[in-house]
Amino acid sequence: MALSKVIPNDTVKRLRQLLDGSHNILITCHVRPDGDAIGSSFGWCHTLKAMGKDVNVILPDRMPKSLEFLPSTKDAVIYTQHKEYADRLMSEADLVLCCDFNAWSRLGNLGTAMSESPAAKVLIDHHQKPQIDGALQISYPEMSSTCELTFRLICDLGWYLDMPRDAAQCLLTGLITDTQNFTVNCSDPEVYQVMIKLLEKGADKSQIMWEAVKLTTYQAMKLNAFAISERMEIFPKYRGAVVYLTKEDLDRFDYQKGDTEGLVNEPLRIRGVVYSIFLREDDDCIKVSMRSRYDFPVSDLCEDLGGGGHRMAAGAEFVGTMDECRKAIMDEMEKYAHLVPKNIDKPELK
Ligand code: MN
Repeated sequence: MALSKVIPNDTVKRLRQLLDGSHNILITCHVRPDGDAIGSSFGWCHTLKAMGKDVNVILPDRMPKSLEFLPSTKDAVIYTQHKEYADRLMSEADLVLCCDFNAWSRLGNLGTAMSESPAAKVLIDHHQKPQIDGALQISYPEMSSTCELTFRLICDLGWYLDMPRDAAQCLLTGLITDTQNFTVNCSDPEVYQVMIKLLEKGADKSQIMWEAVKLTTYQAMKLNAFAISERMEIFPKYRGAVVYLTKEDLDRFDYQKGDTEGLVNEPLRIRGVVYSIFLREDDDCIKVSMRSRYDFPVSDLCEDLGGGGHRMAAGAEFVGTMDECRKAIMDEMEKYAHLVPKNIDKPELK
């Protein structure tokens, strides 16, 4: 079964011209890269290498341990660790593929250097409000993942047969993680056709499920259990849940980057909870992340706090104390109370 045509011919043609005219290609993605960022970056990397290109992946910072099983990801150039080498690569590149981010600010310190590099830029992304307008902007916010978009582009370029198994493994990882194992952003039946085609290429779903989704550490499991048990508040009136972790809490469980990944989704499992907010005290700000169901626009709440994201998965960075942040969150919950669906029963607390 063929996938339906989503990306216009002239977009594919322009991408083809840019790729054909480039030998030295860089690929980059957002800070604190997730499965979709790494998956799409290395999906492209493996495919373009198979097509005879010189390709390097530059990451703004280190990637999580949970993604190290993906082939060749150890070859990524980490900007925070090898800045000079990355700067040289950027000065020599013809083309940069910008995967899974919509603005240069999403690259942290790498953003300025990358945006100022002489190479042509191609945006390949599924976040709302793309702000990168280089040689070509390929933005599909309605798509499940940048990995799905990447797979469709590879097929449209006529490279499906040449696409190596390693690329399929990377792309299926982003498809699985960005849909939370086919729970969100996957109402389009073609998402499953994409998965089938990646499995036919030899992608190993079981390895992805264990490595990228299920495996954790002893300390991280305890931290998450503590957060739910001691730091979760449910506000029945708003159908909202807030979980917060202070610096002290994090230190107590020897917090490592990525340990609370996915925690924000947990309160959504409580019947009657429409949206969930997770606050984590960082060195210089409070990291805010929000998830929702029933089309409740947490992106609006995050935008009020200076952040943004997808309608039902968004984030922000709050500068201030945890108490100030929780106060601001309460104000936001009140402000958007009228948008909570009326037909959802309040969560029961006892
Ligand atoms: Mn993504």
